[in-house]
Amino acid sequence: MKNVVVLGSTGSIGTSTIKVAEDLPDRIRLLALAAGNNTELLLDQARKHRPEAVCINDPANAQELSDSLGTACEVFSGPEGLLKLATLPDADIVLIAIVGTAGLQPALAAIRAGKDIAIASKEILVMAGETVMNEARKQGVRVLAVDSEHSAIFQCLDGKPSSSVRKLWLTASGGPFRDKQAWPKEKFSEITVERALKHPSWVMGRKITIDSATLFNKGLEMIEARWLFDIEMARVGVVVHPQSVVHSMVEFVDGSLLAQLSTPDMCLPIQYALTYPDRAGNERVQTDFPKIGSLTFEVPDEDRFPALGLARRAGEVGGTLPAVLNAANEIAVEAFVNRKINFPQISELVQRTMEAHKVVSHPALPQILEADAWARKAAVG
Ligand code: MG
Repeated sequence: MKNVVVLGSTGSIGTSTIKVAEDLPDRIRLLALAAGNNTELLLDQARKHRPEAVCINDPANAQELSDSLGTACEVFSGPEGLLKLATLPDADIVLIAIVGTAGLQPALAAIRAGKDIAIASKEILVMAGETVMNEARKQGVRVLAVDSEHSAIFQCLDGKPSSSVRKLWLTASGGPFRDKQAWPKEKFSEITVERALKHPSWVMGRKITIDSATLFNKGLEMIEARWLFDIEMARVGVVVHPQSVVHSMVEFVDGSLLAQLSTPDMCLPIQYALTYPDRAGNERVQTDFPKIGSLTFEVPDEDRFPALGLARRAGEVGGTLPAVLNAANEIAVEAFVNRKINFPQISELVQRTMEAHKVVSHPALPQILEADAWARKAAVG
């Protein structure tokens, strides 16, 4: 039985995690749940799964939770509450699925308390990959990926060192604007928010759906992979694979490639992270190859999607630059969703902010957070 803390239990990854826990009641116990603002859903989850503790962002909502849940469940709030949950003595693994940078401090706190962590929030490794991985090595804890691509690579690597790898291949669906005939570069300024929010193969949160349309999502994943698997950016490649059945691949030094495949369902990488190193029986995911028919692959179009080049540069330069890319992109996506800028201006804004940044190499956490705050201001400016 694994005692699991879920930070971000009411979001897309969080609700899938609850499903996995319901599939595997003999293996997974939901020890604690944290949510941002969705008090109602958190309350439902807590009534059903009886966690030891819950956390809600706003202290005003904490009272409501306390009144409804009684004394069997401790109720926390705010960023301090997240730290409490991340370091609960009985926790075996902390799954972090909070949007934005709020997951960074709880991730480090969990590691320092000797907990394994499962990361769904890309920001953690993009901003502070070096710090997080160094700390995890020092504490002897595991950092498991919940992203489908990184879970695939982790499964294919199966403990092999980066010296046995020629290249890691992240697959990308290509997003809704993959087709160059239908969406030539000249038409990119006409892309509406509604159109960008329609993703061909995954149902996800709003920010990540826009990131999938710009390919910034894949760019962030390249940087994540660089840290998670201790490999330089030049050996992290991207291949477009519209069916999203091959979740990613490892090309080994002998030329052999291993891939991990299934119909797309986030429950699978979540389950693997929570049951690792075991594989637990679950009928949820079924893959019918004759029905899928064919799997296709293409070179990504870096001219229409500058995000990949920007992320590669951020990953190569390192230091505070990935944090700046991440923060500027968040601001740009928000501006796009609020119809203040058009679609191509998302990557233009990120590029401008990166160019204006004075990089600090091997930054400590305060310097990373400073760069993040700087980029958010600079991107608006
Ligand atoms: Mg992914």
